[in-house]
Amino acid sequence: MGLRLQLLLFALALVMGVAALFWERPAVPPLSAAHRPIAIVGATVVHPSLHGAPKVEPDTTVLIIGDRISAVGPSSTVMPPPGAAVVDAHGKWIVPAYMDAHVHLYGSGDPYARPDVIDLTARMPWVKEALWSRDRAFLTLHIWLACGVTTLVDMGDQRWIFPLRRAVEHMPDVPRIFVTGQLISPVRREVLWEMGNISPMIFAATPQQARAGVREDVKAGADLIKFWMMAPFTELRKEKLLLEAAGREAHAAHRLFAVHACSLDKAKSALRAGADILAHSVLDLPIDDEFLSLAKKRDIAYIPTIYLARGVRAAIRHDWKPTPLESRLGDPEVVCRLLQYNKVAYDPSLVVHGDPVVQPLSPKVFIKTIAHNLRRVRDAGLTVALGTDSGYIGTIHGPSIFSEMDCMAKAGLTPAQVLAAATIGGARALHLENVLGDIQPGRYADLLILDADPLKSTANLSHIVSVMKGGTLFDRAALLRQIRQVTSTEAPCP
Ligand SMILES: [Zn+2]
Repeated sequence: MGLRLQLLLFALALVMGVAALFWERPAVPPLSAAHRPIAIVGATVVHPSLHGAPKVEPDTTVLIIGDRISAVGPSSTVMPPPGAAVVDAHGKWIVPAYMDAHVHLYGSGDPYARPDVIDLTARMPWVKEALWSRDRAFLTLHIWLACGVTTLVDMGDQRWIFPLRRAVEHMPDVPRIFVTGQLISPVRREVLWEMGNISPMIFAATPQQARAGVREDVKAGADLIKFWMMAPFTELRKEKLLLEAAGREAHAAHRLFAVHACSLDKAKSALRAGADILAHSVLDLPIDDEFLSLAKKRDIAYIPTIYLARGVRAAIRHDWKPTPLESRLGDPEVVCRLLQYNKVAYDPSLVVHGDPVVQPLSPKVFIKTIAHNLRRVRDAGLTVALGTDSGYIGTIHGPSIFSEMDCMAKAGLTPAQVLAAATIGGARALHLENVLGDIQPGRYADLLILDADPLKSTANLSHIVSVMKGGTLFDRAALLRQIRQVTSTEAPCP
């Protein structure tokens, strides 16, 4: 199918498919009646901390009224008000619900998600893939909730992300979403860029275009702005001018400025241009004192995205294997597509772009650098936030958060530090630590009940019994049943 025809079909489908975006949303019955106060009694509450040890409160009652936490204290002193629903959580742990600070809902994580990285459009036209992800958005969001994630930051997407964000604002059974809208990019990748308004990127060749792109995103409803530092080294000077223009415009509109900058010199340029969030690790070199002092001055959040390198390399080399949690919790259709692609013969000529993670550089080498840099960032007292880059090839929505947690632990973070990155770290990255990321009166009632000690082992962070989003409590098993009910009606994986 020619690109023009693909575009026409996509445009048509976009017009006709607005209703499809809000496909029959499976309603998951909550454990608690709406608007009735809830008291969760007897659990050990863990308050993650970005600096130092977490505060642990045994035998605690958490009282929730409406969508907020109203009181937290010893079960002997905090009494459930008359008429409250009482949830017995003795022997269990309560932690804030998780945030994934780096996802892309336009990508499914299957091998066809990024034809600019590996061109499989002959097998699956990108338009078809993109529409499929869009129409599957609610299922994907349910999967996220079942993985304990109540907040997502979409770090670059097609424009349907704006109506989706508005649609989910008051839905209890899907995560809240913060969006950058389309990425501002100084490089064109035809297969994605030629999509115009429905591309996940806005191409900017001049500082004026970069500023206009930021204004377009802000007008559409972007919560933050993302700039993609992907220009070749020969164009570094020009890229810097665009970066600075985008950063100034983002700040003028009171938006945080997130930057994809994976090399040490680009990351420093990003920090000098006002970056508030580094969306990935520095992976080419060990970070130095100059980087740390720039990062501290800007009080940035650092999102390591460690797991994605393994995921994409395995997928591209036809060797992708799901972890047990990915098998159990991931979208079965996406898992199936990745496994099916394993059976296709490896053709290196299909790898199109010089993404460092698909280069022959040994993953051991750069994962060692990523781990070293993460420890330095942590030791310097900077904010670390957890992000998976889910949607990218080989990194599937939902359970990849547990793979990322595992990678962070292997890089040297303690379970408490991983928990902090997945909760208060993300909240701090968005400057929302007053409303998200901890179990405190006044904050959104986004929390998880776990049946294993989250401070003993990072793996225990996946032992989720119940998920509460904005004061509505869901049984985790019921969420999973609901997801399975939808996916079991689909054709089985051949
Ligand atoms: Zn990304």
